[in-house]
Amino acid sequence: MGTCTNLDVPKTFGSLVFDDRQMRARLPEDVYRSLRKTIDENTDLQEDIADAVAAHMRDWAVEHGATHFTHWFQPLTGITAEKHDSFITPSPDGGVIMEFRGKELIKGEPDASSFPSGGLRATFEARGYTAWDPTSYAFIKDHTLCIPTAFCSYAGDALDKKTPLLRSMQALNRQAKRILKLFGKDVRNVRTSVGPEQEYFLIDKEVFEKRPDLVYTGRTLFGAMPPKGQELDDHYFGAIKPRVIAFMEDLNQELWKLGILAKTEHNEVAPAQHELAPIFSTTNVATDKNQLTMEIMRKVAGKHGLACLLHEKPFAGVNGSGKHNNWSMATDEGFNLLSPGETPYENAQFLLFLCAVIQAVDDYQDLLRLSVATAGNDHRLGANEAPPAIISVFLGDELTAILEAIKNDVPYEAAQKVTMKLGVHALPRFSRDNTDRNRTSPFAFTGNKFEFRSLGSSNSIACCNIMLNAAVAESLKQYADRLEGAEDFEQELHHLIREVIRKHERILFNGNGYGDEWVEEATKVRGLSNLKTTADAMPHLLDQKNMDMLIRHKVFTATEIYSRCEIMLENYCKTVNIEGHTMVDMARKNYLPAIEGYLAHLAGTISKMRAASDRVKCNYEISTMERLSELTDYILERVKDLEKALEGLKEYDNIQKTSVAVRDDVLPKMEHLRKHVDEAEMLMPEDLWPFPSYGKILFSVN
Ligand code: ADP
Ligand code: MG
Repeated sequence: MGTCTNLDVPKTFGSLVFDDRQMRARLPEDVYRSLRKTIDENTDLQEDIADAVAAHMRDWAVEHGATHFTHWFQPLTGITAEKHDSFITPSPDGGVIMEFRGKELIKGEPDASSFPSGGLRATFEARGYTAWDPTSYAFIKDHTLCIPTAFCSYAGDALDKKTPLLRSMQALNRQAKRILKLFGKDVRNVRTSVGPEQEYFLIDKEVFEKRPDLVYTGRTLFGAMPPKGQELDDHYFGAIKPRVIAFMEDLNQELWKLGILAKTEHNEVAPAQHELAPIFSTTNVATDKNQLTMEIMRKVAGKHGLACLLHEKPFAGVNGSGKHNNWSMATDEGFNLLSPGETPYENAQFLLFLCAVIQAVDDYQDLLRLSVATAGNDHRLGANEAPPAIISVFLGDELTAILEAIKNDVPYEAAQKVTMKLGVHALPRFSRDNTDRNRTSPFAFTGNKFEFRSLGSSNSIACCNIMLNAAVAESLKQYADRLEGAEDFEQELHHLIREVIRKHERILFNGNGYGDEWVEEATKVRGLSNLKTTADAMPHLLDQKNMDMLIRHKVFTATEIYSRCEIMLENYCKTVNIEGHTMVDMARKNYLPAIEGYLAHLAGTISKMRAASDRVKCNYEISTMERLSELTDYILERVKDLEKALEGLKEYDNIQKTSVAVRDDVLPKMEHLRKHVDEAEMLMPEDLWPFPSYGKILFSVN
């Protein structure tokens, strides 16, 4: 979209990235080849090569206005971290030179004591180090050369999200290559790819700044429904407003400069809600770029006098924001393993990889669910706007019928007469259209990839891809173990696929995922798990079967798993705790005094009116005053309840107990308080209400 008249997109694209084009153009040939080998084959980089790369990278960065460099990493806070060092080094003549050595490129030592580690690294042992991930290109942001890195403790424990993600990609690569070998294919690498579709809200910055709840917590904690919400569906794919267009154009340009393939953008269902989708890339790169995209979105919004909300549920009563994780596996040559093939043999291979995903999702439903669990996302999952907390797989009617035929050893189409034998008979062609219709499924096959739709808009995509890659690696391992020893490969393959379908068909569901009947059927009949909140889901990370699998594939160590469970639950509790305190604050300091002021005004009006005439009834004034006065009493009570619940959290000695109290005690009390305040809002004159209304916020951008 847009008319970027004076922008030469191909020329500016990636201009702030030290990508392959720059490497090839700038590095001496032997250095380039060495680095390429490191990138493609994961080999170590020698120090002299690193020095050469660093020197050229520095020259390039300085030419592009950089004065500083930083190792850019993703601690367990879920956002990115950086610590800038300038390139300057004093020279003997009293001046400075710009220096950047190989050592500084490869390894950094940020003071890491304040990042959450879930007990992995006692705070007095502050030393952690960052290590360059050469598969994700360095880039320039704010005059700083940013080097994507992994973050580990000196004992070797991963303190970030990138390290386990890279390990999970390795695990899948190992197992997928074994399978491909059985089909006679010797490939160098199998990589997983991801295209994350990102939803967000854009509101006016001045309005944003007037709402402490948005400022402190990213979501509104109070607010009565406006007369108009999303009921007309007039926003979805609607014409984009000029201020938003200007924002999107600017955003695209910034993203393109950073080599981010921002591709589509449109209005979403809720007023003020939009979506941005990039073209997919290798998972670790896609993860880095999604983090960067979220950061740039916020920054560009600020420049346009807007605030970009990435919270999963900024407003009650209108849709929240998610992120769709489109995922597939492909060989180095770009052959998509989830693409149905042309020949019977390729079809069999496709079906095996398909089965691996189906089995992975069934065996590790809980891991997928908890990989997207946060306090914010709990508001969406299962709330009839996002897929339910129950994980299931949508395949579409045709593919389901094909699997059904294989399962029962019956012909797929009556006309075909013969029972389909894998590797011998052609797989019936099925149309892609058929697979992209169900928007209520959390995990849908969309023709040549799966779309995991349960992610929250602010989630790092690292978490779910770690689990997904690991779980699929496990299915593939089991298949490879079995097939490698088979006497008759084709026969064994056929049996294996049939068995997997029979065993895991409970996870397949093409119906309406939003319906109450589905919850009933999924949990009661099929025995699928329904982990509604973070407090319910997260402890399953420690289930033996989950720990065993993650450790077997070297994705996490046991200590790393414990630490992550701790950190995620801590994050849940802290988030809600801040929300609770913000509510108390707003109620005591703003809402109650505002209502009280109006009550005084009403009381005065009533006395004055009565003094002026004994025939006035003052119905409106009296009923409003009475109800508002009642509400202030309720609000005060609810505030005290909430304060007590928040205070009570301090008494628990373990985070699981705290999280249960947050779920059962604090959150319901917050809801309760909100209800009364929202009712009062409807009775008060707008100009006396202390904060902008939903209507003002949602329709603030034109
Ligand atoms: P839609 O969902 O609107 O039909 P697409 O299916 O083309 O659009 O793409 C949605 C997202 O999925 C995009 O980010 C796209 O790049 C990504 N995508 C497409 N193919 C793959 C793939 N093989 N692996 C991962 N992501 C993919
Ligand atoms: Mg999509």
